[in-house]
Amino acid sequence: MAAGGVALGGLTAGAARASEALIEPSLHLPPSSDGTRRVALTLDACPGGFDRRLAEALVEQRVPATIFVTGLWIQWNPVGLAFLLANRDLFTLENHGARHVPAVLGQGLVFGLPAAGTLEAVRREVADGAAAILAATGTSPRWYRDATARYSRDAITLIEAMGIRIAGYSLNADMGASLPAGAVADRIARARDGAVILGHINQPHRPSGAGIAAGVRALRGAGVVFVGLE
Ligand SMILES: [Zn+2]
Repeated sequence: MAAGGVALGGLTAGAARASEALIEPSLHLPPSSDGTRRVALTLDACPGGFDRRLAEALVEQRVPATIFVTGLWIQWNPVGLAFLLANRDLFTLENHGARHVPAVLGQGLVFGLPAAGTLEAVRREVADGAAAILAATGTSPRWYRDATARYSRDAITLIEAMGIRIAGYSLNADMGASLPAGAVADRIARARDGAVILGHINQPHRPSGAGIAAGVRALRGAGVVFVGLE
């Protein structure tokens, strides 16, 4: 989805920010100077499992990806974590929050998830997620993407003041791992130069992961180059 605001639903009458429009930042790579189509693949590891088939397909095709992991995912997936760390030439681990809490102020649900509520809760979610990654990998993450890719404006200001960059995206490949494989593959295959592709690697029992693998294969076949976010 393009950048823009969505209303935060389900707020209580007394909430301070009942009418706040959330920010959904978009992110693009700088245009390539030599005519090569370049894209970045980013995969969220929300709380859940490990889509090993997808990870293996990326390794087989030598496709780099930025994996946004939650602290909960790290706790629950030691084998998956070991797989990613064994392929650090391809996989960069970045911050998807400690507990997969939306960086949204006020009370209410954002896509079914309770908002962080306060700036202090946002700070904790980001800092604890970063600490979990540092403990697991020895490296501090530089990017953060919250649970729903939507943010309160003040939360963005706070996170950026922590020296962390907000990882938006430009191509939603799997709509929360909800799309069938063919649709996911089609979306990815149509990625334009500079696209930051968003998908999921925490849903091993859904068909969307196979779609990501197929879409990536199609892009590779078309000569597209996969790069990191930096
Ligand atoms: Zn997530």
